[in-house]
Amino acid sequence: METTLLSVKNQIEQAQDKWLQDKIFRSRWKSLRASGLDDICNRRLYYYMTCGELADEIGTDLVAIFEEGKEQEPAVRRYLSELGFEIKKAGFTETMGSHGISGQVDGTLEVNGGRYIVEIKTVSEYAWDSINSKEDMTEGYYRKWYGQMQVYLLLFNYEKGLFILKRKQAKQLKIIEVDLDYSYAEGLLKKAEIVNAAIKAEQPPEFLASNPVECKRCPFFAKVCNPPMDFGTMQVIEDDSLAQKLARREEIKSLASEYEKIDKEVKARLKDIPAAICADFSITGRAGVRKYPAREAKELPTWTVKIERIKGE
Ligand code: SF4
Repeated sequence: METTLLSVKNQIEQAQDKWLQDKIFRSRWKSLRASGLDDICNRRLYYYMTCGELADEIGTDLVAIFEEGKEQEPAVRRYLSELGFEIKKAGFTETMGSHGISGQVDGTLEVNGGRYIVEIKTVSEYAWDSINSKEDMTEGYYRKWYGQMQVYLLLFNYEKGLFILKRKQAKQLKIIEVDLDYSYAEGLLKKAEIVNAAIKAEQPPEFLASNPVECKRCPFFAKVCNPPMDFGTMQVIEDDSLAQKLARREEIKSLASEYEKIDKEVKARLKDIPAAICADFSITGRAGVRKYPAREAKELPTWTVKIERIKGE
């Protein structure tokens, strides 16, 4: 019996792995993609255009996340329609010939005479908690979404855009409104000019300066690009157990932030309640005083650790 169950498990999991593997492909960009233009490295854009097929393959975990996002997108449109907001022109494409940039929008929306470009993003719990305004999208990983929107606004001649964030774990939407930022968008057009000129001259743009962490996670690193790597006095730690813990830490990061947020909300709600029952939970609370022993030194040494993932999202 167990053998049969294992066999079924293996068959399904192998079929899933093959399905995800089949979705992995790399190819050269035919034009500069609006969705990728806000890259901190112009040289990387050059490689996507000239030898994109040589980029590192993305893993099946990441493909699974993209595929889930694609499946949720039509459901978001239906949900918005139920709420009385019809997304139009889904998949509308445009090319800015003079800069060789192309883009495909998720749709447009007209509300109270206002015209909006719409970009639908299904997001993790971490992103759901972190993104609450357009300012939260101008740094780090989400910056490329902001840049994508700015290019779309220019490409499609709109003044305003809406990010519709869909919480992956629940039927919930969060709306972030964005105005066309001319100087930001023009900066992206300038990047396109630099990359196009480099392609014409068959000479890649400069290496990304002083950012070995970014280079190490780049899909072209050590394939077609070998930038000078200055890690300074960085120590290389060969420790499998630590590596596994770091990977697991990354996986559960969003759960930790969700736990902390809910824990704080729950404890604030239960403050000053000595005894209660809620659904299946018994709750007790009591007042107390925390005494700290006298400290010999006023300045205590601290050690702050910053951990960044080198490969993957
Ligand atoms: S390895 Fe570094 S310099 Fe080279 S393309 Fe990638 S990010 Fe740019």
